Amino acid sequence: MSSLFDLTGKVAIITGSTKGIGKAIAEEYAKAGAKVVISSRKADVCEQVANELREQGFDAMPIACHVGDKAQLQNLVDQTLAAWGKIDILVCNAATNPVYGPTHNVSDEAFDKIMGTNVKGTFWLCNMAIPHMVKQGGGSIVLLSSIAGLRASANIGVYGMSKAAEAGLARNLSLEWGPQNIRVNSIAPGLIRTDFAQALIEDPERLKRVEEKLPLRRVGEPVDIAGVALFLASKAGAYVTGQTIVADGGDTIA
Ligand code: NAP
Repeated sequence: MSSLFDLTGKVAIITGSTKGIGKAIAEEYAKAGAKVVISSRKADVCEQVANELREQGFDAMPIACHVGDKAQLQNLVDQTLAAWGKIDILVCNAATNPVYGPTHNVSDEAFDKIMGTNVKGTFWLCNMAIPHMVKQGGGSIVLLSSIAGLRASANIGVYGMSKAAEAGLARNLSLEWGPQNIRVNSIAPGLIRTDFAQALIEDPERLKRVEEKLPLRRVGEPVDIAGVALFLASKAGAYVTGQTIVADGGDTIA
């Protein structure tokens, strides 16, 4: 493997890493040599996924954390530092979307839940990790945005707004912290085969559109996004900051 992608000795926190895109990112980071924190709301599942990685000879530590809860986010940072002494890479991947339908039907409660979990939680966690990255001379932060943040949607509008805000957060943090050698980018995946996107993938019309219209003629797999996350976290992406990298099989250009 090119040394540009080597993460040996790096400590990475990946939220929502017990399945889907987050798990694929944790696996690829671990294979590249990083120590990875496996995190989601369920402690038993975090333990199980961390054990799977340890059995393969990788360094993995489970820390349960709901990303909408400030105290739990602080605990995620504190426990990582207590065990491994630093945070080189932060991937804010966990997100929620409890509603499907036009935006005017979205309740205040659902709106606050989407924005609180996807935007405010991400904002908090970045602000908690950054001072430690500054102390150690730099770091890389990757936020999971979406192509839903780049265009309008009839069914997932508020979620799309939250994903646009995450891309904006990455852009702004990159400006503020670039001089301290902290790079902040976001990834905008298209449709990826995970539980989160199950309803979309099972929608025959949408699947047909993807398989007939997209230049790559297929739904994405979690590892397709993990590759981009590895690039952004490693030396390979050393001159990339403030960007939203679209990985959508060509969906947005077709
Ligand atoms: P997924 O397969 O449903 O996995 C979500 C992960 O996040 C799980 O580990 C889940 O575990 C955890 N999680 C959910 N809510 C959480 C919370 N409040 N606090 C902490 N952990 C939480 O989802 P995915 O498709 O991989 O999505 C990952 C990211 O990619 C999201 O930011 C999503 O917006 C973005 N994305 C996905 C797609 C797609 O097509 N799949 C497209 C564009 C962008 P628990 O439920 O046990 O907590």
